[in-house]
Amino acid sequence: MVRVLIGFLAILLVLSLVRFVWRMVTGWVRFLRAGTGPGVAGPSEPRMVPRELRKDPQCGMYVSPELSIRSRYRGEELHFCSRECKEKFFQVQSEKSA
Ligand SMILES: [Zn+2]
Repeated sequence: MVRVLIGFLAILLVLSLVRFVWRMVTGWVRFLRAGTGPGVAGPSEPRMVPRELRKDPQCGMYVSPELSIRSRYRGEELHFCSRECKEKFFQVQSEKSA
């Protein structure tokens, strides 16, 4: 009787394990399809993740390129956290070159 019970539990355990693995596999397939499916911009780029941050050369803070104040300096695109930082940066550069 005890052996039968253990056998039954073992079958249940295997079944739940198979279900768990199956869920993981289907979840992965769905994830991969969502990442590389048609109409998605960028190859396998995860959504809802902030993009590469840029360093504000004035205060050293990291800012998102979408939210930063952009400016060009000597052919380089710079990203500032605020207008104050941008103005300060160019003021310092002009003082340096003067
Ligand atoms: Zn700044």
